[in-house]
Amino acid sequence: MLKKFLGEVMIVVAGKQAENIAVLLNDKKYINEFIIAKKMELTINQTRNILYKISDHGLISFIRKKDKKKGWYTYFWKIETLKSLEFLRNILFKKIDQLTHQIKSRETKRFYVCERCNIEFNEENALLHNFTCNECGGIFTMKDNTKILRELNRNLDKLKRELKLVDEEIESERKKIEKQKLIKLKKEEKIKAIEKAKKKLANKTSKKKVSKQKPKKILKKKEIKKPKKKLANKTSKKKVSKQKPKLKKVKKT
Ligand SMILES: [Zn+2]
Repeated sequence: MLKKFLGEVMIVVAGKQAENIAVLLNDKKYINEFIIAKKMELTINQTRNILYKISDHGLISFIRKKDKKKGWYTYFWKIETLKSLEFLRNILFKKIDQLTHQIKSRETKRFYVCERCNIEFNEENALLHNFTCNECGGIFTMKDNTKILRELNRNLDKLKRELKLVDEEIESERKKIEKQKLIKLKKEEKIKAIEKAKKKLANKTSKKKVSKQKPKKILKKKEIKKPKKKLANKTSKKKVSKQKPKLKKVKKT
């Protein structure tokens, strides 16, 4: 359903040819424009024209990479799913608005037709023409709006159903984005925590190097014990065991 909606948007923005763009692009990985052109069976220039048209509306986005040998840029594209859905939502809103107006007008106003020429007039224009057709001279008859109204109402229902489905897609897309943001945030926090722990450890080991010499000079028991406690938790057993003999020596003296 999502791809169908996205295809619909692409057609509105860049014509029937653009429908496949929605199938070819996804919203996670950027795709090389030459691959897009090949899959669409279009030239690179035709493809670029379509892509630029769509990107003017912010519905797809690109990164570019410079070819070091040739010196030119290759573009890589991905689709902006949420923006595209919101774009479609606006289109549907406008259509629904128009249709609602048409229905209201059919329900409240009179229309006249020349049945022979199949031309329609609203009441004011019919009056101006004296209810007589300019083309064939026939007399207008009043239009029966029931059939048209049925058709318009059917279309309105269809649009409303589509709008509901698009809204659901938008909702799930927003949730997806929120989830991704949260995952990214957690990753960043994890990295920060690891870096913090590393720094702490680095500080302790540098203190340890200093403290190695301390016991030799300072003989007070209290001061010697402090570094030992801290180091025992943070550093490896090997490093701690290295220091133990020194501390014992100090105690004896
Ligand atoms: Zn006529």
